[in-house]
Amino acid sequence: MKKILYFGLLVSLILLLAACGSGDSETSGDGDSNAYTVGVDVTYPPFEFQEDGEMKGIDIDLIHAIAEDQGFEVQIEAMDFSGIIPAMQAGELDIGMGGMSITEDRKETVDFSDPYFESGLSLVVASDNTEISSVDDLEGKTIAVKNGTTGANFANENKEAYGYEVIQVKDSTSMFQEVANGNADALLEDYPVIMYAIAKSDLELKVAGDKLNGDNYGISVLKGKNDELLKKINDGLANLKENGKYDEIVSKYLGE
Ligand code: GLN
Repeated sequence: MKKILYFGLLVSLILLLAACGSGDSETSGDGDSNAYTVGVDVTYPPFEFQEDGEMKGIDIDLIHAIAEDQGFEVQIEAMDFSGIIPAMQAGELDIGMGGMSITEDRKETVDFSDPYFESGLSLVVASDNTEISSVDDLEGKTIAVKNGTTGANFANENKEAYGYEVIQVKDSTSMFQEVANGNADALLEDYPVIMYAIAKSDLELKVAGDKLNGDNYGISVLKGKNDELLKKINDGLANLKENGKYDEIVSKYLGE
């Protein structure tokens, strides 16, 4: 009889330990099939980047904090920026981030959260370039842009008006490279991203002229299908702004 009692206790203990274990892995969200998948740009510091084999950045911390506040799990998937919205349309992603600007065009396919970061597009040239100080100086020049971005849109829409050529690349690193190695005379990048890149690395680049627009970043979900998730994202965002966590995340990366 005693033996059965001990056995029973042992089984309960094992079950208890197993329950604790699975609880832990759910909190991290990794590999959890109940988790919402979040597509982010493959490399877009300070919003998302890999460091020591880990995804870091404002977007990454923000979505984790929103998920924690609202009680859901997330799994991050890094990809080329231009692949994020198509992957949402194909049902492979629940949430799209990546310093994604809220635009009327995108609103035809996705619903955006409330804006969470003020950005804007900048013209960028090599630091020793004295010829180009605004888009008016781009006649006959070549500019590099990243596929699927507001920068690429701007470049393609204004190509005839300003008389430049456009080179399309897949990520920001390649875009910076095009100007650094002289393949392109200028590039278009979001102001906070280029300022961070110039401050953090030895990139020989500088911003030319004023911002070309003043857009805002939003978190996206597939249009018309995710009202409940969007509400959680907006509620979480509002709570983080209220309790200081949002400011904490932004200043962790931007130091203000
Ligand atoms: N904010 C820009 C856009 O939405 C660029 C985003 C990015 O390159 N990750 O198109």
